[in-house]
Amino acid sequence: MTQVRRRARWPLDLGRARILVTNDDGIQAPGLKVLEDAARSLSSDVWVVAPETEQSAAGHSLTLQRPLFLREVSDQRYAVDGTPTDCVMLAINHLLREQPPDLVLSGVNRGGNLGEDVSYSGTVAAAMEATLLGVPAVSFSLDFRPGEHPHWSTAEHHAADTIRWLARTGWPEGVLINVNFPPGLANDVKGLAVARQGRRKTGNHLLAGTDPRGRPYYWIAGLRPEDAALTGTDLSAVNQGRIAITPIRMDMSHRPTIAALGRALAPQKEKRRRR
Ligand code: MN
Repeated sequence: MTQVRRRARWPLDLGRARILVTNDDGIQAPGLKVLEDAARSLSSDVWVVAPETEQSAAGHSLTLQRPLFLREVSDQRYAVDGTPTDCVMLAINHLLREQPPDLVLSGVNRGGNLGEDVSYSGTVAAAMEATLLGVPAVSFSLDFRPGEHPHWSTAEHHAADTIRWLARTGWPEGVLINVNFPPGLANDVKGLAVARQGRRKTGNHLLAGTDPRGRPYYWIAGLRPEDAALTGTDLSAVNQGRIAITPIRMDMSHRPTIAALGRALAPQKEKRRRR
């Protein structure tokens, strides 16, 4: 399905750009509307293809065991009964195949996608899929504090400027940009911070209980505490009230370990050759 595409040219002229907007919270989600409005303030050629139902923590999963249905909700607005990855695939390889988008925006997710969240996130996965298909992509999430509601106005206020800055600056092929808005009010935002992925201690909190039929259940719950020792991360940036900009590489191979394992393997090969 993957097609070879032209290279992205930076800066991206947003006024002439075709923009695809998607998310993992579903076609009805308030955050999708926030990102769609931001995109429409930048370009007149905006398309929305989003999941029918919430797909949070769907990761980069793809629907292969059943067909997918594309429902036109309104002009240039579609819902797919699948995952965020399905949405991006259908949009780029089918719906917009004559003129693929110049930019894919995913979100704004209800809740931060920080640290290891990136590997579970459907919001980030949509941007991964676009990147694999050769379209520059940005995922957006709005962090909020436990017990509070997300301050959508913070994302509303800062989304367009963040997109403008990214489109002016650009980033390499095979890389996506993960953006997290901090939990505070719009006026309290202290600007952008380029940050790496942080870490939250592993060990998920499990809620155990018994269902009405007497079967024991376990419910994955609770946020893991942040590793406070780390600085320069997405987690520390949003905690300081900044908009975290984290470039994520699709090639997950770890170069230093490749070199180390390669060196470990080399003497064995030598030995075998000598025998
Ligand atoms: Mn979500």
